[in-house]
Amino acid sequence: MKFRQSSKLKDVCYEIRGPVVDQANALEEAGHSVLRLNTGNPAPFGFEVPEEILQDIIRNLPRAHGYSDARGILPARRAVTQYYQQRGVTGVTVDDVYLGNGASELIQMAVQALVDDGDEVLVPAPDYPLWTAVVRFAGGRVVHYACDEEADWYPDLDDIAAKITDRTKAIVVINPNNPTGAVYSKELLEGILELARRHGLMVLADEIYDKILYDGTEHHCMAALADDVVTLTFNGLSKSYRVAGYRSGWLVVSGPKEQAADYLEGLTMLAGMRLCPNVPAQYAVQAALGGRQSIQDLTLPTGRLTEQRDVAWRALNEIPGVSCVKPKGALYLFARLDPDVHKIVDDERLVLDLLLREKIHLVQGTGFNWPRPDHFRFVTLPRADELETAIHRIGRFLSTYRQ
Ligand code: PLP
Repeated sequence: MKFRQSSKLKDVCYEIRGPVVDQANALEEAGHSVLRLNTGNPAPFGFEVPEEILQDIIRNLPRAHGYSDARGILPARRAVTQYYQQRGVTGVTVDDVYLGNGASELIQMAVQALVDDGDEVLVPAPDYPLWTAVVRFAGGRVVHYACDEEADWYPDLDDIAAKITDRTKAIVVINPNNPTGAVYSKELLEGILELARRHGLMVLADEIYDKILYDGTEHHCMAALADDVVTLTFNGLSKSYRVAGYRSGWLVVSGPKEQAADYLEGLTMLAGMRLCPNVPAQYAVQAALGGRQSIQDLTLPTGRLTEQRDVAWRALNEIPGVSCVKPKGALYLFARLDPDVHKIVDDERLVLDLLLREKIHLVQGTGFNWPRPDHFRFVTLPRADELETAIHRIGRFLSTYRQ
């Protein structure tokens, strides 16, 4: 073969949009209706764009056709700055805010600017797999710290501490967590910050679900808990504002920035190399952060997202040999298949067989860098009746499934 993928991609994978997607597309082309539960994309499930965001984009479109500043337009960066000031993060100015085509682009830039060959980055297992993929793509070594299902999917500080070496550069914290739905306590976050402080690590805080919280759970913004640790906070409009397709996210740098001056020079250069993020979508940021927070209606005890979380959690736990921890935030459950009941050796084959038989597209647990083939991720976005039906079909499939 003449053209092969570069060796940089050798250990990189991203199963959420992996090979099973082609099969799902082929089924749809053949006339089947496929329930797409592989991504956290609210739009196909009847979540509308908040009106004030839509109107702001429409109003600004006629003057959004030029490149913007590489970091993004000022009103949006100002709105992000104010948001973090209100959340208790000190010392943040508009120069510390970078807008991006989704948080994804900024995650890639931030890691590329930081990691040299062989540098280690602590990443949770399970993780949102973009993190593992981008660290490896940058030539870094991913060191997974375990999150414990028995402890509401909290990580263990001793396990993290034991994995820090003199090559460790940063720790990734995903809170609220995808795929587990865990929301971390202040004490746990302070414990992680203490490790970062002691070992001079940068904290990469992925807080894209910071407004999707159930049962009155509080979210603690990590950057607000320590002003002496360099912290990069990632967030955006995709989830809390249900506009994943607009590709609008941000990154905020906080803490002792003088320690990171050289790094930030590199990050700013990368921001400039992509010229600027998509400009129309940047106009959504100020309207979103300054407007009414309609996500709160959806996460009230009677709200749609809470109801769906409850239905999915109950119905999945009713399947023999399946169990899952009740999520405190985000849009997912990470369900366990009891190995004594379901002897799965290849969980990618499991999700492929489920797709072919029941036309439901899930992502296997190992796609989230979970070390054993005994979990799958379930997305709680469909309406309650559709969830009931889908989970009934998953139960029916599992009752006869053998590998
Ligand atoms: N971080 C987490 C934990 C996510 O789940 C996602 C998307 O699913 C992202 C980041 C990327 O979001 P976006 O690029 O749409 O802003």
